[in-house]
Amino acid sequence: MPSQFDTPLSEAVQVLKQVLPLMTEHQVPTIPPNYAVWYDYVTRNNADLQQELDSILEESKPFSAELCASIYQRYFMDELNERVSGLQESVRVAVSSVLSELGGLGNDMEHFSDVLDECGTKLQDDLSPEALQGLVLRLAEETKVAHSRSQEVEGSLHTMASELAELRSQVNQLSRDSLTDALTQVSNRRAFDESLARMATEAKADNSPLCLILADIDHFKAFNDTHGHLVGDIVLREVAQEMKQCVKGRDMLARYGGEEFAILLPATPLVGAKMLAESIRTIVESERISDDAGNRLEPVTVSMGVAQLRAGEPTDALIERADSCLYQSKETGRNRVTGEDALSKVH
Ligand code: GH3
Ligand code: MG
Ligand code: MG
Repeated sequence: MPSQFDTPLSEAVQVLKQVLPLMTEHQVPTIPPNYAVWYDYVTRNNADLQQELDSILEESKPFSAELCASIYQRYFMDELNERVSGLQESVRVAVSSVLSELGGLGNDMEHFSDVLDECGTKLQDDLSPEALQGLVLRLAEETKVAHSRSQEVEGSLHTMASELAELRSQVNQLSRDSLTDALTQVSNRRAFDESLARMATEAKADNSPLCLILADIDHFKAFNDTHGHLVGDIVLREVAQEMKQCVKGRDMLARYGGEEFAILLPATPLVGAKMLAESIRTIVESERISDDAGNRLEPVTVSMGVAQLRAGEPTDALIERADSCLYQSKETGRNRVTGEDALSKVH
């Protein structure tokens, strides 16, 4: 896999010569996290980051410390990975303390068993009443110690069981989060890829239709430019919710990219998928979203493309066809649905 570490020095110096004047011009402190952001901007490593920085530059917004931190956080810090390592460490600590408790109990019980063996051997001899009394006293004492030790261990095992139950629920939450888009709370691209692979296998196995709708918000860049990114985020959340209301049962809605959504419809023929897309299009168009201050915003519209998986084709071909349909919806005026049956031969 190509890595940034393979970048030749001369190339990196060229980038540095572009990055530093830019950061200075926009008064961004040249500390490592900010440099990482601007390095990727200059080298066009990440289209989303580039678009975001371009919009900020266009709006001439100052690169405050908060803004720089937020950009770095979103594009460079994998919060999920950090949570995974944190939980891994907690589980490791919990497991080793259970093992050491059990190991300690094992040693104590081994000692108790030795004592019992020893007493058993002695009992085979003829013992004086005093010796017998001594033996019984010792047995009583050792039994008491073993009993309280096992109660102690029982107590700490109980505590550990509840700690592990808590860890288990955190791990479950983590795996849900890793499949959810943080902004809109619908499934993310990773969940979409997994579902598409699974649904395509199922559709093939029972010879049932599988459809894909791709939806893209119209003129969203202009919307962001007019109202700012935060209002854009509100719109993304609202549109996701409107779509979610229309997606039931085994169907799945995911945020496919920046302002794009995908809907997978198992056991649904093209005609049904187009009807659903059309009703989503109408709902989105008729909803009036308000910003945080309660101001009603202009209507938001979406363009859509709908395709059905063909026998034997890879899932990439389905995505490409839905994307061509979406492109045709954009080309022919936006705020419309194009099914693959209406796809002009040019695509
Ligand atoms: P079209 O009708 O052709 O789709 O035009 P468009 O402006 O929607 O398409 P374009 O691809 O030019 O721009 C997409 C915009 O979506 C640009 C980007 O800033 C915005 N966007 C992507 N992700 C987010 C996000 O998470 N929040 C916000 N507020 N905007 C986003
Ligand atoms: Mg788009
Ligand atoms: Mg768009």
